[in-house]
Amino acid sequence: MPAGRFAPSPSGDLHVGNLRTALLAWLFARSTGRSFLMRVEDLDRVRAGSEEQQLADLRALGIDWDGPAVRQSERRDVVDAAIATLESAGLTYSCFCTRREVQEAASAPHLPPGAYPGTCRDLTADERTARAAERPAALRLRSATPTWTVHDELHGDVEGAVDDFVLRRNDGVPAYNLAVVVDDAAQDVDQVVRGDDLLTSAPRQAYLATLLGHAQPTYAHVPLAVNTQGVRLAKRDGAVTLRELGRDQAWAMITASLGLSGDTPSDLLASFDPASLPRQPWTVVG
Ligand code: GLU
Repeated sequence: MPAGRFAPSPSGDLHVGNLRTALLAWLFARSTGRSFLMRVEDLDRVRAGSEEQQLADLRALGIDWDGPAVRQSERRDVVDAAIATLESAGLTYSCFCTRREVQEAASAPHLPPGAYPGTCRDLTADERTARAAERPAALRLRSATPTWTVHDELHGDVEGAVDDFVLRRNDGVPAYNLAVVVDDAAQDVDQVVRGDDLLTSAPRQAYLATLLGHAQPTYAHVPLAVNTQGVRLAKRDGAVTLRELGRDQAWAMITASLGLSGDTPSDLLASFDPASLPRQPWTVVG
């Protein structure tokens, strides 16, 4: 069954901005007859106890999901299978660049910001053997396009850069851009609603989905919460988590910011209209 999802990284408490994104993902999914899945993206940056707290906060707001929450770390076999598919199609190469080499090369003026210039793309077999003796390799996508276009419900058609991005880090951990694509496809997720900080990642992910033979999801990248200085909201910005605010206060802030009223997520469904969502960042006074 087609699904939407929320995919938090368990690196600390969710703040009201994250909770608002979760509520929006729920509303987008439920208002379109989709199921709604919860996926804990725990391949990186895990803080003990964070997953339990995040899920408890989401439940406290009345956000429900279908089936148990799934942990990305328990799905390594699916991700490894996707890597094998790409490798056997000749769509990968090993990269020996250090973080600093990538940063220096990526600041080259003719490239889109942050794009990898392909330093290791055309190394010879001998060069690869020599470099592999020095340091472990990351695995990169051998991209055949400089850009890709996705459709976003709030942003329209968005064309963005696709570089030879990392599929597997040099510590062996699958990269976010790969894991998210593989898991969304494996879970029948065809609607991706998340913060608009990830809008620039969507073209890479949609292109990768296509290479793996999956349909591209529809996207809705929603505005982030910011503090009174206009900077992306962080936990140090005051009382911004559900524990600090209390459930009722957090709920009231979030629903007011969306121009919606009701006591539960289901109450909001009747008046939820993506076209009238605020398009500006949400300023939170913590
Ligand atoms: N785990 C990511 C985050 O918490 C979100 C990934 C996604 O929604 O695609 O920022």
